[in-house]
Amino acid sequence: MTEVVVVSGATSGIGEACARRFLDEGARVVAIGRRADRLEALAASAAAGGAAGALLPLELDLRDRAAVERAFSDLPDSHREVTVLVNNAGLALGPASALQGTPEQWDTMVDTNIKGVLHLTGAILPGMVERDRGHVINIGSIGGSYAGGSTVYGGTKAFVHHFSLALRRDLLGRRVRVTCVEPGSVATEFNLVRLGDAGKAAEAHRGYRPMSADELAEIVHYCHRLPAHMNVNRIELMPIMQAPSAFAIARED
Ligand code: NDP
Repeated sequence: MTEVVVVSGATSGIGEACARRFLDEGARVVAIGRRADRLEALAASAAAGGAAGALLPLELDLRDRAAVERAFSDLPDSHREVTVLVNNAGLALGPASALQGTPEQWDTMVDTNIKGVLHLTGAILPGMVERDRGHVINIGSIGGSYAGGSTVYGGTKAFVHHFSLALRRDLLGRRVRVTCVEPGSVATEFNLVRLGDAGKAAEAHRGYRPMSADELAEIVHYCHRLPAHMNVNRIELMPIMQAPSAFAIARED
């Protein structure tokens, strides 16, 4: 049976690589993002690769719940019965410290990384439950487990981590899998979005080799292609040159 895979944030980085990886396997893909030109380019490249019609571009801002509900109540038959949801769209904005970020940046991170995941899951999960078949793959972050990076961003990814594990409990007894993929540093547009400056973004990866979007897509695909009676609950990955660091102490003497 043909897989129907929804990938959010398919205009760039990990999401784009996931969309291509599933297309290569012969899946039908619903590719979500706000940048229509990139979605069109992805659809054209799928068509050029012999998969014309397999990719359905969906220009959507996931922060808008009504728009998400509308889009998913109106999918063509070819892409209606979703079997895999990759909740990948997300972002960090501004300085790491909550003492320096702005409330607007916090809102955007919460609205995208938490509410966006809820909006899309809410639109797609009921169909999976009804058909007793599906796989929700959420892209979390090591920032959800370790307080080493951006504070508010890490908080949103702690939500994704906990939501994924709790959803497993909610779905117990059904054949709907839930996986949280929690990466460290990956070379994508993530740091450009976070810092708004190509030079600073490049500096974030200076002197070590980050993981690639394609490598992450391979992990996402691996979690899915395991036998359907197995569930990867969470999987954490880092480049070899990245590791969790020790607790910090401020000495007053
Ligand atoms: P990119 O910036 O390359 O991609 C982010 C994607 O999210 C884009 O396709 C963007 O599309 C989409 N997006 C952002 N906001 C919205 C929105 N409101 N509605 C719809 N789509 C949106 O970054 P990555 O590929 O690295 O990020 C993918 C995921 O991986 C994120 O959840 C990120 O938090 C996570 N992650 C990344 C790490 C890294 O080091 N890169 C490490 C750990 C986790 P568009 O702008 O077109 O809407």
